Amino acid sequence: MKVYKFGGASVKNADGVRNLEKILRSHNSQERLVVVISAIGKTTNLLEQVLDAYYYDKSKLPELTATLRENHYTIVRELELGDNSLIMNRLNEIFALLDKVLAGPHSGNFDYDYDRVVSFGEILSTTLISTYLNEVGVRNEWADARLLIRTDHNYREGKVDWEVSARLIQEKVGKILQGDETHIVITQGFIGGTEEMLPTTLGREGSDYSAAIFAYVLGAESVTIWKDVPGLLNADPKFFPDAVKLEQIPYEEAIELAYYGASVIHPKTLKPLQNKQIPLFVKPFLHPEESGSRIDAGKMTERVPCYIFKTNQVLISIYPKDFSFIAVENLDEIFSIISKNKIKINLMQNSALSFSICCDNKVHKIEKLITDLSVKYKVKYNLNIELITIRHYTDDIVNKVIKNKDVLVEQRSRATVQLVTM
Ligand code: ASP
Ligand code: MG
Repeated sequence: MKVYKFGGASVKNADGVRNLEKILRSHNSQERLVVVISAIGKTTNLLEQVLDAYYYDKSKLPELTATLRENHYTIVRELELGDNSLIMNRLNEIFALLDKVLAGPHSGNFDYDYDRVVSFGEILSTTLISTYLNEVGVRNEWADARLLIRTDHNYREGKVDWEVSARLIQEKVGKILQGDETHIVITQGFIGGTEEMLPTTLGREGSDYSAAIFAYVLGAESVTIWKDVPGLLNADPKFFPDAVKLEQIPYEEAIELAYYGASVIHPKTLKPLQNKQIPLFVKPFLHPEESGSRIDAGKMTERVPCYIFKTNQVLISIYPKDFSFIAVENLDEIFSIISKNKIKINLMQNSALSFSICCDNKVHKIEKLITDLSVKYKVKYNLNIELITIRHYTDDIVNKVIKNKDVLVEQRSRATVQLVTM
């Protein structure tokens, strides 16, 4: 069996859904398939706004939820089924559940409510697509990932209980796929559930990770991530017009790239696949016949320089207030404050008198971190910083990249250079 994953961009409109249909139709009908799908288009962002309104300004809710409905209805209409009442009814049942949540008071636990509200995106997309496919004769069964991927209660970044998830997935999905009724299971990316069946999410862009979980547990032959790019590129074509596609790369290299922020694959995706040596394909959903990129246990054939640009970074420098040196005790305390605030460090560096970190500028989170650190430390920070990571660099390449930029921090290892620039 194989696992296919479709991201939000690949199903953002009716053409996208039809394209998914075409890809499923052209796969060998005897082969078992688990299809993992994200919320359509930018639904997750919209639901984040819904949640914000739910907490801070309920007057905005009617308009936001109307947009949510309309985005889904538009796709259904444009799919031009003779009779779309089944899909509409199912979607409306889900909208009614969401309305019910939003009509009640929030719990006061923002992250818990986040998962409760934002998980609706994937429930909507998969219900729409699964029902549509059954209507047009692509037989499939819908499975609820909230009951299959078991996580702890760390809302918004659920930690997967592999043992329980394996049992649940085998019992449900394994069983469907063994039978002859249907060879395709459609399920949601990004979401899971606690033992009390409360919805959780696995972190933004977590659908790739979901695909890896299903693949690992079911011992899939391969995973294919269908994307709006030709494959894994050595740079973001927005910054680098002559980005090139990487034909094949080893797991370790892909893990490094994902870790440094190449946004094509969610960083947690690769390790489980590597452990079972399941190859991962990244393929263009508009050109399924193209080879895309293959990530596997093979050796690296060519050291193509890879560029990863992360914008909207903040560089925070932390100094003991008494101007003493940075010692292990300080670091211990600083790390625990960072960890309590759930901040991911993209780069860190220490000197005698300060410790610096570079991280994504997530508005409320960074303010809170700085406030917490300021109790015992002097904190300076720069906003609007860029973090550039180059794998397989040469001095020439570095010089070209930093031309006309101020370099605030630089770190080099044999294969990687990281530059914090302004
Ligand atoms: N829909 C979720 C998000 O936008 C998960 C995903 O797309 O992978 O973050
Ligand atoms: Mg997405």
